[in-house]
Amino acid sequence: MAPGGDGRRVTASSPSSDAERWDVLVVGAGPAGSAVAAGLASKGYRVLVAEEHPEVGRPVQCAGLVSRRVLDLAGSEAMVVRPVRGAAVFGPSLRSVSFRAVEPRAYVLDRAALDVHLADRATRAGAEIRTGLRFDRLLGPPNGGVVAELTGADGRATRIAARLVIGADGVASAVARAFRLRRPVEILPAFEAEFPTSPGDPDQVEVYLGRTIAPGLFGWWIPDGRGGARIGVAADADGTPARVYFERLLERLARRFGTAPTNPASFVVSGIPIGEVPRLHGDRVLLVGDAGAQVKPLSGGGIYTSLRASAIAVDVAAGALAANDLSARALAPYTARWKEELGEEFRRALYLRRILVRLTDPELDAVVDALGAGPLARTIVAFGDIDFPTRVARELLAASPSLVRLLPKALGAWVAPAPAYPVPDLEPGVLRK
Ligand SMILES: Cc1cc2nc3c(=O)[nH]c(=O)nc-3n(C[C@H](O)[C@H](O)[C@H](O)COP(=O)(O)OP(=O)(O)OC[C@H]3O[C@@H](n4cnc5c(N)ncnc54)[C@H](O)[C@@H]3O)c2cc1C
Repeated sequence: MAPGGDGRRVTASSPSSDAERWDVLVVGAGPAGSAVAAGLASKGYRVLVAEEHPEVGRPVQCAGLVSRRVLDLAGSEAMVVRPVRGAAVFGPSLRSVSFRAVEPRAYVLDRAALDVHLADRATRAGAEIRTGLRFDRLLGPPNGGVVAELTGADGRATRIAARLVIGADGVASAVARAFRLRRPVEILPAFEAEFPTSPGDPDQVEVYLGRTIAPGLFGWWIPDGRGGARIGVAADADGTPARVYFERLLERLARRFGTAPTNPASFVVSGIPIGEVPRLHGDRVLLVGDAGAQVKPLSGGGIYTSLRASAIAVDVAAGALAANDLSARALAPYTARWKEELGEEFRRALYLRRILVRLTDPELDAVVDALGAGPLARTIVAFGDIDFPTRVARELLAASPSLVRLLPKALGAWVAPAPAYPVPDLEPGVLRK
């Protein structure tokens, strides 16, 4: 024992002396965390996953609409509740355009079941998942690894020493903060409710555009496969609570259907990170999924991108662990490979989004009208891909003189300085009714 600076007596042991030792500490058992854990455990590494909630997959904070690629990456279709073939996009005046394909173009999932499936895969590969365990902070100095302090459901602190930490802890990532990884991203407040019954076509998803209901993104109506719907909005972080936009969306749905869905079973309040994180790696750390803002900027969807990022993270981390070099330099190929694969799509999508946020309601109506014109609708059905939306956008701009009228806006978005985003006062969480 030695005296501390304030006269107290402190123990002179290192933070790691009484810590449990693991190769990898994964923080968060969402799709990203479980997928990384499964990959690294299957390569023989000792992987601990800490999940702050008492149960994997709950609370659900997602509409659960994904592409076929997600089912392939997850290796299961068991969590599909409804394939959808069509989509309808509604402008602010409720004029709309519909697209319908022969084959399913998207799948509505039981999102909790997806998370449980991926977590099971991780445990079967040899990872250990501990629920009710929250990552709080790093203890230093690192001594051949990092030592993290986590808190259990009973309030007791646990120390975990790991060679590598994977921050898969979602939009509010405590790992990113602890490792001081800069995340210059916009966090769009989102509000969603599940309605056990709802009018609407169960074979299509609906998207609602408009500055009064969802400036900067959109509102959605997604069939839940059981006669109900998931209805939500995500919008610019302009200080207006997302619930206000949500109420306005419900009013619009009442006009569309002639009656509003009522009696929601549950609500979700959360945030969607939009932007590009310059470095997804640091000494002994990688950020994966929402923690690294790996979310499609034009839709806010992040399941496919999280799973792709996880696969790259597993590859790079396994190499670094084998070489016992967990330096930022050794982990840098993770950021590089992510950008190689999806960087261009993200840059284009962010640019298109900057145009979208500048469009007035009449201009949004004009876009919907233009998309409804015969050849464009066919182009969308032929090229539409929810994971790579900018591909169809390029085809559309090339084909449509009416869309070209928006080019002055596009130029404005191009030359405008990158916005400095206010971070909303938002603790992602859930309000259960
Ligand atoms: C309203 C809404 C609707 C959405 N709809 C869709 C959609 O239809 N399709 C789509 O593809 N995407 C959608 N998304 C986005 C999608 O939900 C995310 O991109 C996806 O969940 C990211 O996975 P993840 O594993 O990175 O993060 P998450 O799924 O958020 O998982 C992070 C995990 O980390 C845990 N955690 C957080 N902090 C700590 C800590 N300190 N210690 C321990 N554990 C911690 C959390 O409890 C959570 O389980 C939607 C998002 C929202 C908000």
